[in-house]
Parts: sequence; structure tokens; C-alpha cells
Amino acid sequence: MKILIAGAGLGGLTAALALFERGFDVTILEQASVLGEIGAGVQLSANATRVLYHVGVGERVEPLACEPLGKNVRLWSTGQTWPLFDLGAHSRQQYGFPYFTLHRADLHQALVDGVRAVKPDAIQLGERVVELQQTDNGVIVHTARGGRYEADVVIGADGVHSAVRAKFFGPDQPRYSGIMAWRGVIDATRLPEHLRTPYGVNWVGPGAHVIHYPLRAGRLVNFVGVVERDGWMVESWSERGEREDCLRDFKGWHDDVQALINAIEIPYKWALMVREPMQRWVDGRVALLGDACHPTLPFLAQGACMAIEDAYVLARCLSQHAAHPDTALARYESLRTERTARVVHGSAANAKRFHNPELAHAAGAAAYVEREWTTEKIHQRYDWLFEYDANSVAVE
Ligand code: FAD
Repeated sequence: MKILIAGAGLGGLTAALALFERGFDVTILEQASVLGEIGAGVQLSANATRVLYHVGVGERVEPLACEPLGKNVRLWSTGQTWPLFDLGAHSRQQYGFPYFTLHRADLHQALVDGVRAVKPDAIQLGERVVELQQTDNGVIVHTARGGRYEADVVIGADGVHSAVRAKFFGPDQPRYSGIMAWRGVIDATRLPEHLRTPYGVNWVGPGAHVIHYPLRAGRLVNFVGVVERDGWMVESWSERGEREDCLRDFKGWHDDVQALINAIEIPYKWALMVREPMQRWVDGRVALLGDACHPTLPFLAQGACMAIEDAYVLARCLSQHAAHPDTALARYESLRTERTARVVHGSAANAKRFHNPELAHAAGAAAYVEREWTTEKIHQRYDWLFEYDANSVAVE
């Protein structure tokens, strides 16, 4: 079976590796003329790292990944700290695989290297997919610069602004969430010692929250500052912002937050959009995966994890039903819609939890944190995510 993937992002590349393992011929069409990832971090829980080890990339990224010892909640005003849940050794013990925090570029490079090791010319650069036609037993794909490709199956892994989704499922309808994210990468040597710890930290406050965690074996720190505000609607990884604006958004927050913002190399900003989960994302021989079909707010840190899970389940379905690609794609869709919709809704619920008005004052905040972040509630909120095994869900 010949398979074309639109998009060499985290999901598309994982799909290619999982498909190669099962003997498929795969070509990836990527719109960018140079491969790379933006300067930002990504957290990958055990449900995703499990897949990375299955496709041979886990070991490759280990030297560049961090395995935080734990995660702490801190209060915006006083800096009071509550341990949230253990990651590090705990993740390996409980879920069998590590919790990694990684620079996106390091993960992307490892996936690209894995794909090219199998098929050096698998990734066709500068090929933006603009048109697709289904035929009786396949799909024809056209690219902006005149390329024409034929395949038995096409996978739209072309991200949140997916052209494949637009073609088969119509325009999407994003709604501004009222929340924007500041993000930046920090050279750890620019931070005081106590902010260079091997912990992920989630600062909570009224109308905003801040996440930071170590990257690249602790040499970098990833910063994400999320704030409720109007007037900013651009959903882009590459939109630069001004440090003064970011400082203004976190005025009055603890000195540690100010120190982090002051140390960011280049602050970027991203408007967070809400989209309702799609009911369907398979049409004949075309299937979507990742942000193309279930973009989510980042408050469960699961967008990339879901793309990686999708990729593996899809490859297993295609392998199981190789003689009947339509059946394979339908099975894939039926296995993935409920779980990914739950992530979309759970992420939105976490926005409310992280920004609760009770967090404004220390006494109310202490009661709120102690109520919302008990070990039991953490397990309720996260176990169903982290325990998922893309290699054992029934694809028959
Ligand atoms: P992408 O990574 O967007 O890749 C799409 C690829 O398709 C790109 O290479 C693009 O150039 C290409 N493309 C686009 N259009 C075309 C076309 N027409 N033809 C050919 N190629 C095309 N997720 C986590 O799991 N953990 C986190 O900690 C986390 N943090 C986040 C923080 C923020 C602030 C945000 C905004 C998101 C975060 N996410 C996180 C979500 C995660 O970044 C995405 O869910 C993930 O990148 C989706 O992967 P993908 O492969 O579907 O799409």
C-alpha cells in the first residue's frame, strides 16, 4: 500500500515511522522548504513516550530529554508551593514509561532522523498540499508548485490550519478562548539557582497561570505564561511579542515569575482558540490526525501526545486491515474520537481550574489548591490519559 502523509510535524513523522515498521511505502509532503521546529518545549507523558519507544525514537531523545522529579503548584502572590504529583521515577514505575520534557526541535530532529534512516527521500520539502481528489481506489494529491502524487491512502497530518480537513470537512470555526499564551525558552544560566530545579512548576493565579519546566538536560527552561485578555487573535508559533507587555500581564506576580520573564530570550505570543471536537475525520481513503482533527487548548499538555497516539493506532489499523483500507480508516476513527474529545473538554476545564478567582487571596487559594489537587483527584484527572496503550487497543 502506498501512503501519502501531508505534514512532517510530530504526528506525521510518528505515523511514517509506525507505518514503515509495518512494511508500508510512505512519502511525506511538507510545505516548509527547510525542516525544523520552533523554539519551545513540549511535555510528553507516558502514553506518548510509550509510542516513541515502540518506533525507536525513545532512546534517541533520552540524552536530550529531562525527566522532572515532580511537579509543583505555586501561588502567584506568595510563591507558596504544593507538590502536585511525582513524575520521574513514578511515571516509569506506575505507567511503565517516562514523563519527558523536551525541546520541540530535539524531538522533531530525532523523528526526522528515524524516518530518513529508513527511506532517505521520504520527506519531500516545499510541497504544500492544495488539492485532493478521491478516485475509485485511491487519492490524487496536488501541491502548490505543481506536484502530482497518487496514493492508496492519504493522511492529513497538516496541523491546526489543515488544508486536507478544509477540503473534505469544510472550514473550521475557531472561537477565541479569551486566553493568550506567552512562551519563550530561557538559557538556564540566566536564572537563579532555585529556578533551575529538575521540577515542572505550575503557578496559579486569578485570570492567569504560568508553567515552566527544564529542557535539554537542564540547560534550558521552557516558559509558558497564559493570561485572559482581549484583542489578540493570531494563532501562530512565530508571532513575536514585547517583554514589557508580558511583564505587564504578570504585574504583581511573585519575583520568581518576574525573573523568568526577564530571562526569556525572545517572547512569542499565541492566541488560544477553541474548536468543538469533530464527529468525523475520515472520508473514503483520507484520514486526519493530530491538530488537523482535534486541536485542543494546551492545559492538559496533550495535543502532541494525542497526535502521537493517533499515528500509532492508525498504523496498526492499516496493518490489521491492509486489504480493506476503508475499514482500517473507519476503525481508526471509531477508536480515537471519544478519547480525543475528552482531552478537548478536559483541557477547557483545566483553564477554569488554573484561573479560579478563589486563587486571588492566599487563604482561599490554599483551600482551593488543597481541594482540587489532592492525590486522588490528580489520579482521576490524569490516570486515564497516562495509562493508555496505543499498542494494545483492539484494532480488529
Ligand atoms: P503540527 O506539529 O502543527 O505539524 C503540522 C505540519 O504540517 C507542519 O510541519 C506544517 O508545516 C505542515 N503543513 C501544514 N499545512 C500543510 C500543507 N497544506 N501541506 C503540507 N504540509 C503542511 N502538546 C503536548 O502534548 N504537550 C505540551 O506540552 C504542549 N504544549 C503546548 C503549548 C502551547 C502554547 C501550544 C499552542 C500547544 C502545545 N501542545 C502541547 C500542542 C502541540 O504543540 C500540538 O498538538 C502538536 O504540535 C500537533 O502535532 P501535529 O503533527 O498534528 O501538527
